[in-house]
Amino acid sequence: MSTVSPDEAIAVAPTIRQTQLLIGGQWLDSVSGETFATIHPATEEKIADVAQANAEDVDLAVKAARKAFESGPWPKMDARDRGRLLNKLADLMEDNAEELAALETLDNGKPIGDARAADIPLAIDCFRYYAGWADKITGDTIPIRGDYFCYTRREPLGVCGQIIPWNFPVLMASWKWAPALAAGCTIVMKPAEQTPLSCLRMAELALEAGFPPGVINVVTGYGVTGAAIGKLPDVDKIAFTGSTETAQLIMADAAQTLKRTTLELGGKSPNIVFADCDIDAAIAGAEFGLFFNQGQCCCAGSRLFVEESIHEEFVKRLVARAQERKLGNPFDPATTQGPQIDADQFNKILDYIERGKNAGATCVTGGGREGDQGFFVQPTVFDNVSDDMDIATDEIFGPVLSIFPFRDIDEVIERANKTFYGLAAAVWTKDVSKAHRIAAAVRAGTVWINCYDVFDAAAPFGGFKMSGTGRELGEAALANYTELKTVTMNLG
Ligand code: ADP
Repeated sequence: MSTVSPDEAIAVAPTIRQTQLLIGGQWLDSVSGETFATIHPATEEKIADVAQANAEDVDLAVKAARKAFESGPWPKMDARDRGRLLNKLADLMEDNAEELAALETLDNGKPIGDARAADIPLAIDCFRYYAGWADKITGDTIPIRGDYFCYTRREPLGVCGQIIPWNFPVLMASWKWAPALAAGCTIVMKPAEQTPLSCLRMAELALEAGFPPGVINVVTGYGVTGAAIGKLPDVDKIAFTGSTETAQLIMADAAQTLKRTTLELGGKSPNIVFADCDIDAAIAGAEFGLFFNQGQCCCAGSRLFVEESIHEEFVKRLVARAQERKLGNPFDPATTQGPQIDADQFNKILDYIERGKNAGATCVTGGGREGDQGFFVQPTVFDNVSDDMDIATDEIFGPVLSIFPFRDIDEVIERANKTFYGLAAAVWTKDVSKAHRIAAAVRAGTVWINCYDVFDAAAPFGGFKMSGTGRELGEAALANYTELKTVTMNLG
């Protein structure tokens, strides 16, 4: 493993420009003056102290967002101008892409190559995509009985609380901001406590782009900060990405004022490999589908079903690939696997690995910590996993793959669906009808055929069952940020 000293890591990282709260267009300390530390997961060293927003700061941010919505220019602005601002933000992110990528790597620990190739370009794309939608949010004219003219309008929903996790900080912010802003909503965002820095930099770029004060507000802090947003009656909607448990708390609070909610949650996604697949592609897809982003993806293909006749060969070759992964300094462009995000996640993952071993699954590679500095976990593969073991049912959110042999299509469909989750699935086969049978039968919001983790701003993403409600991305996401109004006029 290539190691890096704390000083080296900080030396290649960008200057931390912003650690305050953005409220009503002003950068402010929290009212209490409290801060919290954010750390670099590869070295466990502190990067910066960031303002800790408490209930009173959240209150100020929501008031600013409400004012910008009720009396600011934003919702009434020519939609083309809103689109222009979204494009301007995308341009500024492009101009500062290297800095944003380095901030992601510093705060999250992800390999710089991934941040450069995936997180930042996909986020820029997302802003461009919704910039195009801003002036295309239309209603219908509806023929109704009688002498009436009836039509619908799609109006901006209002003040949106947006709470995001730490696994893709810039990208998750873009998925939330872009459709909300295109629709004319105002935002109070809380980034994850582990990764506040890139979101603060994006907010700086948004001010530079010219978004009016109060349209985008950012409050940094822990879960209680997020909960404070959800408790305020003046917030019309909560868009949340994170754990199912937190979503249940958010929904309970939202029920008090019937806030709209969009929830993008966990998964235990089945990745199904038939013997008639392109085996090289399937092995590469199985590796990428699970180990990408250190296994910290809600759609990770963590349950790998492999048809019995190729199971042995598949496991052998996949293990060889897992062992070739390059763990180490995430600022080294050759690194393919960085550390886990923090000590809690690191310990949780190691605990699941022990539970897998104790339950009798065979750990065919990995199975422990890598090195003695930073939250690195070895790429780990379990074989001989039974469907009811904890490693088979629970979201581990780490580089731990469970493999299950199967015999036929009906059996694998039933086992794939035996989960509370329903976020994503994949199938590998050259048989077109088999592929589409699986695509229709699996209860998941996204199904990839002969590919994995293909994301595009135009393609909706979200969960069935306990993986969430609503859809992000695509035209579908605009419905989350608009209210439908029916207008009927008497022509008589
Ligand atoms: P994860 O396990 O991925 O960290 P969480 O659901 O704990 O998922 O966190 C996702 C986001 O939700 C983070 O920004 C976190 O601070 C926030 N959060 C945690 N608890 C709450 C809560 N009770 N109400 C609102 N937001 C919360």
